[in-house]
Amino acid sequence: AIEARHLVKRYAELEVLKDVSLDVHEGHVVSIIGSSGSGKSTLLRCMNLLETPDSGDLTIASESLAFSHARRHRPDRRQLQRLRTQVSMVFQQFNLWPHLSVLGNVIEAPMRVRGLSKREAITLGEHYLERVGMADKRDQYPAYLSGGQQQRVAIARALAMEPRVLLFDEPTSALDPELVNEVLGVIHGLADEGRTMLLVTHEMGFARDVSHQVAFLHQGCVEEIGTPAHVFETATSERCRQFVSSVA
Ligand code: ATP
Ligand code: MG
Repeated sequence: AIEARHLVKRYAELEVLKDVSLDVHEGHVVSIIGSSGSGKSTLLRCMNLLETPDSGDLTIASESLAFSHARRHRPDRRQLQRLRTQVSMVFQQFNLWPHLSVLGNVIEAPMRVRGLSKREAITLGEHYLERVGMADKRDQYPAYLSGGQQQRVAIARALAMEPRVLLFDEPTSALDPELVNEVLGVIHGLADEGRTMLLVTHEMGFARDVSHQVAFLHQGCVEEIGTPAHVFETATSERCRQFVSSVA
């Protein structure tokens, strides 16, 4: 469902992604771990085309894009639009629209991007709010919700796009410890449903539980990748072993 090949991303002199290749098979969960600044968020942002890679190839669902130095490939609007309907991202800071109600947040993109009628979007929105246990707050505004509730609404908003792939960038890092589990529980449920997900997380126990594969990123390279058991127990990279033992 995701095939990234030789992705490179630079900010001026700084090569943030050096040559990243990564597959996420349909129905699989891949977690990305690594220290701060290793390029985890940049990689997710490239998958979502919030950032344009400088070179490499990216296939998401049925949409293939090639990026190159020579003639920097800027996907046209229609391609972007198609890709963005296949991928949804959940951010560390929830990023809910403060002036919209919970339901308003969830129905906005399905109406604007997918072209659903308001009535269709509401039916869909209520379904996914139910799914994350937030149906009873549909008319509430984000400021009146806990962080865990806001993040569950953000997950419902991502689901309402009915994407082929879900991206999560440290979805629980901004939460008070007692709110982490309600969000991890929702993500775990989505994994059990067989959704295709790429997840950046510092929750090692969770990554281990939920992932088919774990990738350890170091200075813009995938330094170790494999099953959770491999990455957490028998990694060949000394840096990966150190990282895992330091956060465990
Ligand atoms: P963290 O765990 O702290 O979230 P990360 O692995 O997600 O870190 P990135 O946010 O991908 O790391 O950043 C990787 C590197 O790229 C860092 O050195 C960062 O300063 C740099 N960087 C990220 N975004 C930009 C930008 N828009 N302009 C310039 N440099 C950037
Ligand atoms: Mg990050």
